[in-house]
Amino acid sequence: MTDEGIPSEDWYMSTKAKKAKEISGKAAAAPLLAWYDKHARVLPWRAQKGERADPYVVWLSEIMLQQTTVATVGPYFKGFLKRWPNVEALAGAPQEEVMKAWAGLGYYSRARNLHACAKAVSSVHGGKFPDTVEGLERLPGIGPYTAAAIAAIAFGRAATVVDGNVERVVARLFEIETPLPAAKPEIREKARTLTPEARTGDFAQAMMDLGATVCTPRSPACNRCPINDLCDARAAGTQDLLPARAPKKPRPTRRGACFWLMLDGHVWLRRRPDKGLLGGMLEVPGTPWDERDCHRTVIDLSQGENRAPRGVAGEVLDHAPMAAEWRLVPGLVEHTFTHFHLELEVFTATTRKKLIPGREGMWVPLEEVAGEALPTVMRKVAAHAMPEAGPLFVKR
Ligand code: SF4
Repeated sequence: MTDEGIPSEDWYMSTKAKKAKEISGKAAAAPLLAWYDKHARVLPWRAQKGERADPYVVWLSEIMLQQTTVATVGPYFKGFLKRWPNVEALAGAPQEEVMKAWAGLGYYSRARNLHACAKAVSSVHGGKFPDTVEGLERLPGIGPYTAAAIAAIAFGRAATVVDGNVERVVARLFEIETPLPAAKPEIREKARTLTPEARTGDFAQAMMDLGATVCTPRSPACNRCPINDLCDARAAGTQDLLPARAPKKPRPTRRGACFWLMLDGHVWLRRRPDKGLLGGMLEVPGTPWDERDCHRTVIDLSQGENRAPRGVAGEVLDHAPMAAEWRLVPGLVEHTFTHFHLELEVFTATTRKKLIPGREGMWVPLEEVAGEALPTVMRKVAAHAMPEAGPLFVKR
């Protein structure tokens, strides 16, 4: 606007450009849906052409796919569906069984929420998922993205679904230069302008598929893209530079030690608190994990093969489940979580004294460890403690 409140030429041009972009946004739906009809990925949770999507199946797959790849989710999804073919069956399962079946998939609060959500759908909603974004968002573990995905795919609602793949496509299509994550609101708003009123579920899945198979993070195949004539990044040659990302903070390293205690072919494990990282999962008991070195053993190398811990070892061993002849296994177990890297020392000991199972822990037969709700980092600890039995601890 000019000082007199009259639209300036720049304002007029930018408004016109915005309008044109909105029109081209809607114009993306038809070519994208035609492309999807030919090139949709075949995924175990996806309804076949002409079939109605089952809300339970859509919900289960969307929860599993959060922060996890399609390849990793596949076997877990099939296992869950075979064992618990509908939401009532899952609601009736003991939580411990659900956690065991989830072990290895990571982000374990998802499993607890999955079970809580199944119970809520079963008891409060008569076994039927709510069919609106608002209703779905009120359920445990369902955030805005998952609610939109279920509403669009299972119920045909005009909800805008924005996952990592869609973010990338939209950032390029509109050449959004603001780095992620600050660009998220803008990307969501632009994505909303693309969403058609019909075939909303197919459109959401078409955008995801385009991001996964054509508009890939590196070297997008723009010549195969059904909406390349609408793409600003392609026109400007900036597709390889987008989406821009704010520099990542370096991941801190936390350290700790854990204690592999054996008795007659059994190992002593304990359950983590329900809330927090790896909540409710089993673990090999150990020290807290922190960034200081106070839970790191100082090795006395003068003792050769029988490397005895010294220095702060006394403090480390205070966290052992019992007094025993603890031996430090050479090397470290390393595991990377989203927000930190972890290095663990592992001590082993064999005892004849039977600790009493209870809140402090339980004895688990070695051959049953793989079937327990043991997270990946603890499977690594088990394999480090008993390298010869490593395959025994790999979940199949
Ligand atoms: S033209 Fe290229 S950069 Fe643009 S949306 Fe298609 S694949 Fe992505």
